[in-house]
Amino acid sequence: MGSIQLTNGSVYDVERGTFRRANITLRDGVIEGIHEKTPRIGDSRQIDVDHLYLLPGLIDCHVHLCLPSEVTKPDEWVQQSDAEVALYAIGAARRTLLAGITTVRDCGSWNRVIGAVRNAIKAGRFAGPRIVSAGKQISTTTGSADYMPALFDLGDGPSALAAAARSQIKHGADFFLLIATGAMFSHESEGPDCLTFTREELAAIAAIASDYRRPIAAQGTSPEGIRRLAEIGVTSIEHGIFADEQALELMAQKKVFLVPTLCVAKALLRDSVAAASFPQHIIRRYTSADPTHIEVVRTAQRLGVPIAMGTDAGSPGNHHGRNADECVEMCRRAGMSAEASIRAATCDAARLLGLGNQIGRLAAGMAADIIGCDDNPLEDITALTRIKLVIKDGTMFLDEREPSKQSATVT
Ligand SMILES: [Zn+2]
Repeated sequence: MGSIQLTNGSVYDVERGTFRRANITLRDGVIEGIHEKTPRIGDSRQIDVDHLYLLPGLIDCHVHLCLPSEVTKPDEWVQQSDAEVALYAIGAARRTLLAGITTVRDCGSWNRVIGAVRNAIKAGRFAGPRIVSAGKQISTTTGSADYMPALFDLGDGPSALAAAARSQIKHGADFFLLIATGAMFSHESEGPDCLTFTREELAAIAAIASDYRRPIAAQGTSPEGIRRLAEIGVTSIEHGIFADEQALELMAQKKVFLVPTLCVAKALLRDSVAAASFPQHIIRRYTSADPTHIEVVRTAQRLGVPIAMGTDAGSPGNHHGRNADECVEMCRRAGMSAEASIRAATCDAARLLGLGNQIGRLAAGMAADIIGCDDNPLEDITALTRIKLVIKDGTMFLDEREPSKQSATVT
């Protein structure tokens, strides 16, 4: 296969936070080089991307491709078959990729569906992002499992939780996702400030994670829960809604990422159907916690906690394919600069996933995951919500440049 040259684009350096006019050469799914002058290579196909701002494909570190953001009641999904869920997930994956998200970390899926979807996308049978998968969520007994039983692998006590972790590995999990504190979506009797794993239970999971070399991501809402999780060496805290300064300082010290998922509250509260039909205690929790959560993200930045972009896409009203809204939220509401929010969605997210030498930057030797937009996202971060070009592993999946400049789209 010959090379492809993207010519005349504005190419983003995520570490410097600057664009420069350059040409990118792709070969065999990898970036071969970035040159200010177009090199003459006989077998290359040239694609003129004049006027486009080119960035690395975005990375969403918290999605649920198997969960339908269109549900209006928490128990609506219970009756779905695995086949129906798989068909939904394939569509959600396509929407996600076409929005410029070339890699996702799936933080909890339905039975064994996500492993099959991940593998089929990797084999080129469907269009979708590269998927890093948790399999099911690992949890102690919780009423949340009544809404979505196929989402959870439940266990109580160290040995039962170790068995749950090994079961996820058996079914192809790339990492563990722990529901290690109470959840905002849980029953009224289980507040988000609850601690749902004992220290012994956490230690059992940490031992399995170490032995099998799997990172741990953990839902963390309560400050004490987050401190316990940072102490056992989790790589990321999801949501972090009530993290206090002490918990955030520990996260900074141990280089534990915060994945804020600011989209969840915004999506739920702006979706009038979901807001009216979800249990009111959940709506009240999100309404009252939202200002605290925003302040947590601001404090995390001040204390030097690494931040990675994650949407929780699949939660009510939080639609697959709207993932870049999180970058807008991080800038507009949590005070991040455009450069910082793009880093959170590219090179820093790649580092969280352990893929920092493969994705998240435009440089020679990196995967050819490239997106393009018409406007400069440093001046208007919403440009990331209007993606015109998507290339993943060197294959073009979206080309919405003006028709006279388009090349054939390969899908
Ligand atoms: Zn989630």
